Amino acid sequence: MLIQDLTPQECADILRRTNLGRLGCARDGQPYVVPIHFSFDQDRGCVYSFSGVGQKISWMRENPRVCLEVDDITNKNHWQTVILFGRFEEIHDSPEEGEARQRAEELFQQRPEWWLPAAAATAGSRVRHIVYRIHVEEVTGRRAARA
Ligand SMILES: Cc1cc2nc3c(=O)[nH]c(=O)nc-3n(C[C@H](O)[C@H](O)[C@H](O)COP(=O)(O)OP(=O)(O)OC[C@H]3O[C@@H](n4cnc5c(N)ncnc54)[C@H](O)[C@@H]3O)c2cc1C
Repeated sequence: MLIQDLTPQECADILRRTNLGRLGCARDGQPYVVPIHFSFDQDRGCVYSFSGVGQKISWMRENPRVCLEVDDITNKNHWQTVILFGRFEEIHDSPEEGEARQRAEELFQQRPEWWLPAAAATAGSRVRHIVYRIHVEEVTGRRAARA
């Protein structure tokens, strides 16, 4: 099996066509990983996501340094994975942040039922939902292919 590094553009292509990833955050040395849906904005160098206010949001508010893993796995011999490191930032529903929020919502609308399962996770409760972005600081990608 040959494992190769992906180019930055190949990483961007995977991030654009995929919208399920595993978000890693940490507090007091304790990592926490959860599946999330996201939308990648190559022009602005960030990913957007939508969430109820729960453990991951509290932890990212405390420590905005996060990691997102995204993969395209056919089988153990054929796969591509991308890992990005970045900084969490909440996008508030305010006039100053209107442009960023509008951009996030435009990208969300491109996915059917984009609010699921983030909103379903808190159905029946009065938990507030937030939109946030992760500013991408570093991206790496790898591919395996067996001849
Ligand atoms: C395919 C998929 C896509 C998803 N997309 C999104 C999304 O875009 N946005 C979003 O907010 N959520 C999404 N979820 C749900 C997400 O994975 C979390 O379950 C949810 O957001 C609650 O996370 P929280 O940190 O707020 O947990 P809280 O509700 O605060 O609960 C924290 C506690 O519950 C446990 N817990 C939380 N989530 C899970 C889980 N999935 N499995 C096992 N234990 C868990 C933790 O260990 C922790 O102890 C998605 C889930 C799946 C499977």
